[in-house]
Amino acid sequence: MNKTRVGLLLFVAVLVAAFFVFDLGRYFSLEYFQSQRAALDAYRDAHPVLTALVFFAVYVALAGLSLPGATLMTLAAGAIFGLLWGTLIVSFASSIGATLAFLVSRFLFRESLQRRFGDKLRTLNEGFEKDGGYYLFTLRLVPAFPFFIINLLMGLVAIGTGTFYWVSQVGMLAGTLVYVNAGTQIAALRTLSGILSPEIIGSFVLLGVFPLIAKRAIGYATARRVLAKWSKPAKFDRNLVVIGAGSAGLVSAYIAAAVKAKVTLIEKHRMGGDCLNTGCVPSKALIKSARIIAQAKRAQDFGLKSMKVEFDFADVMERVQRVVKTVEPHDSAERYTGLGVECIQGEARITSPWTVEVKTANGKSTLATRAIVVAAGARPFVPPIPGIEAVGCLTSDTVWNLRALPRRLVVLGGGPIGCELSQCFARFGAQVTQVEMLPRIMIREDPEISEMVSDRFRKEGINVLVNHKAREFRVENGEKILICEHGGKDVRIGFDQLLCAVGRVANTQGYGLEELGIPVTKMRTVQTNQYLQTIYPNIYACGDVAGPYQFTHTAAHQAWYAAVNALFGGLKKFRIDYSVIPWATFTDPEVARVGLNEIEAKEKKIPYEVTTYGIDDLDRAIADDEAHGLVKVLTVPGKDRILGATVVGEHAGDLIVEFIMAMKHGIGLNKILGTIHIYPTLAEANKYAAGIWKRNHVSQKLLTWVEKYHAWRRA
Ligand SMILES: Cc1cc2nc3c(=O)[nH]c(=O)nc-3n(C[C@H](O)[C@H](O)[C@H](O)COP(=O)(O)OP(=O)(O)OC[C@H]3O[C@@H](n4cnc5c(N)ncnc54)[C@H](O)[C@@H]3O)c2cc1C
Repeated sequence: MNKTRVGLLLFVAVLVAAFFVFDLGRYFSLEYFQSQRAALDAYRDAHPVLTALVFFAVYVALAGLSLPGATLMTLAAGAIFGLLWGTLIVSFASSIGATLAFLVSRFLFRESLQRRFGDKLRTLNEGFEKDGGYYLFTLRLVPAFPFFIINLLMGLVAIGTGTFYWVSQVGMLAGTLVYVNAGTQIAALRTLSGILSPEIIGSFVLLGVFPLIAKRAIGYATARRVLAKWSKPAKFDRNLVVIGAGSAGLVSAYIAAAVKAKVTLIEKHRMGGDCLNTGCVPSKALIKSARIIAQAKRAQDFGLKSMKVEFDFADVMERVQRVVKTVEPHDSAERYTGLGVECIQGEARITSPWTVEVKTANGKSTLATRAIVVAAGARPFVPPIPGIEAVGCLTSDTVWNLRALPRRLVVLGGGPIGCELSQCFARFGAQVTQVEMLPRIMIREDPEISEMVSDRFRKEGINVLVNHKAREFRVENGEKILICEHGGKDVRIGFDQLLCAVGRVANTQGYGLEELGIPVTKMRTVQTNQYLQTIYPNIYACGDVAGPYQFTHTAAHQAWYAAVNALFGGLKKFRIDYSVIPWATFTDPEVARVGLNEIEAKEKKIPYEVTTYGIDDLDRAIADDEAHGLVKVLTVPGKDRILGATVVGEHAGDLIVEFIMAMKHGIGLNKILGTIHIYPTLAEANKYAAGIWKRNHVSQKLLTWVEKYHAWRRA
């Protein structure tokens, strides 16, 4: 806490202490007020303005210092100034006083609170940023929530001062009126509890419930407004139509069929979407073949003289397709039809909130449906760099068609897809140059993690160029050249093939979203609320098209919410839970993460402790000659609460599951340490990381006492 804060805290503390030490509260009791009533009335008659000003100032001071007495003052306002002036004075004085208390609380405590509990408070803050005014209004309407507590608590959350002031003034008006009115009858009142009659309490409860009813009514009216211009079919042939049969669409349809809804799944291209056909499955198959080559090159590390690997790149790519074919039945129309899903091969177009037109080989038809789930996925983004069309560009959609290994490959992009494919192609023998405009590859990970990967890449012969911005492509004398800007200079890179892996954009155009006016976000994904609902209450979106994550497992996670809310939202809606999101990049070394890393914790000003265990020390990793990598865990300082974990090394994507589980279910490192891990496994790394954390948190005082105990036992 800085000096100004300490000074203010002392000042407030002295004033509050004086109030109680000198028992000033006795002047704010009903008995005292009644005893002085005649004198007060006389003074008011003689000096009406001065009385009002002094009253106003005392009220502001009481409220600003969060001292008791505001209720009596409100009643007194009615008694002294009457309903109109009393309400006016109290309304402004209480709002100004409340805002002062709010500002004091914010200035003194908010920063340290956010620093300590920023992570826990994140959802609360987001909620208040969005709906803070509404929450405050609800609280203000119900006088059962103490006035001063609301002021102090609101100072700690993300609500603007202006919003706080005007919502307080408006929200407290009804209560002020009731109390001031009661004050006009004060002569008849003997105790403060007298005004809390069942009738008055009942009317306050009604006032409190009112905003909830109002919110529902607003939601209903908004839905009616967007739906009003469309004519609703008299009846529906389906409960749900799902557009796109990728990870998100398949899971949505599966869930709908499992709960016996009539569901139609429409796919215009290939069942399984990106993950099966051009994403996770082929990339992991390619990674495996490339890995075998890399292992063979290390034959001597394993005590073998040499291992000769002969291969034809075309065979490798054919194997990749065989793997896709083998997995294909899991996502096939036959399987889903068997599960109760109607599968249509065709192009879908939303023509109204309740109708989807499907164009198939046999013509067009229109399906009437209660709800729609949009799961149309994303596509690779090709940046508009001058000359890119002339040199031609592979993407994650087309790279799988290659049958000849490029001699010199430029990979544009240092994200997960760029990294996985760069390493694969280099291991097959291509001269790979990976170009990234940011200062490091895998920018979302902590710097030392990026470094571990780029270090390995460089050792394997990949030319990793960071801080290089692709500016132009040229063809000079038949040679393809990339010109990058680096440190103010041009760098020329000759290449034979270009692979673009600079991100993926959601498919939001050409199938009715624009016509329905469904907005997209800044990230160009379909805008949804926390129930994955678009502005149309019966149209939902999930997977890559909705973002913010672009993984198969998050698409499947969202799909549950989209399908369940689409089918049962009228009864109960479920809010999407993004609290524990894991992912992995399948490079060698593999990198897996769940929750926060250091850069994110710093960005969000969340205090943390780091515990790191080096996998180079792990028996199993040594036996496997894979002794590299780490387990890095972030915890709340001094507490056994995991904020995030990163694992780098062999099977990191599998090892991280223990931390995912722990975070999801609120399990700490003590519990991981207390769990038997099989020897010798890589999973022991998690336990050793927990062990290091434990050692760092053992109380030295306690150890001194234990040492004394042992000495005493020996004596
Ligand atoms: C190279 C690569 C590697 C990846 N590796 C991983 C990984 O290891 N792990 C991981 O979790 N994720 C990985 N991903 C990401 C993962 O593939 C995606 O996050 C996931 O496929 C998204 O699923 P989705 O259902 O949202 O979209 P998609 O799989 O893209 O499915 C959308 C479907 O909708 C169809 N469609 C679109 N419009 C219409 C229309 N109008 N009518 C009918 N059909 C329509 C499309 O044809 C498509 O089949 C990888 C991606 C790539 C490119």
